[in-house]
Amino acid sequence: MKLLEDVIREKGTILEGGVLKVDSFLNHQIDPELMKALGDEFADAFADYGINKILTVETSGIAPAVFAGLKLGVPVVFGRKNKSLTLQDNMYTTSVYSYTKQTSNEISISKDFLNSDDRVLIIDDFLANGQAVAGLFSICKSAGASIAGVGIVIEKSFQKGRRFVEESGIPILSLARVASLDDRTVTFVDETKE
Ligand code: 5GP
Repeated sequence: MKLLEDVIREKGTILEGGVLKVDSFLNHQIDPELMKALGDEFADAFADYGINKILTVETSGIAPAVFAGLKLGVPVVFGRKNKSLTLQDNMYTTSVYSYTKQTSNEISISKDFLNSDDRVLIIDDFLANGQAVAGLFSICKSAGASIAGVGIVIEKSFQKGRRFVEESGIPILSLARVASLDDRTVTFVDETKE
């Protein structure tokens, strides 16, 4: 998505360890107009997939997910991140290792909001090694929910998450695909083909 690539180029900064910082429009301050454009793009791409629910993870997946939910006319459920292991009888829970924070979080979703009648679109802000998406896959499996697709705002194509999703056979749409962050420059996948 050209609009998103332009914003990443203009406002993204590159940190050590292949981390792209996008705090000014996605991860801290949020650009509502851009989020709406992203959400609409997901909604249009997955309009015919029979989706009745969007699943994301707090915090940064919520904004684009809500706009996609608005356009598709479906609710948005976000996985909650808990550090403590309290007894959670009514929750589906899985452990997810965070690439950027280098710690594990429990992600929980209430059984009240996900079940075997659901056909979900998973949306997240970044796809790196695929841990967050794998955690949501596992929660959907526990709930008996089917997964119609995965929508990612920024995919780091040089990490293994993309291949993980492709191997699962679940359709994936990434709005920006970063091929490399080498030399402090963002290069997108399409550019490497030119
Ligand atoms: P994964 O689980 O695919 O390894 O990583 C996805 C999660 O890690 C995202 O939800 C995001 O919070 C975080 N993440 C991974 N790589 C980056 C990055 O380069 N920049 C930012 N801002 N977050 C990232």
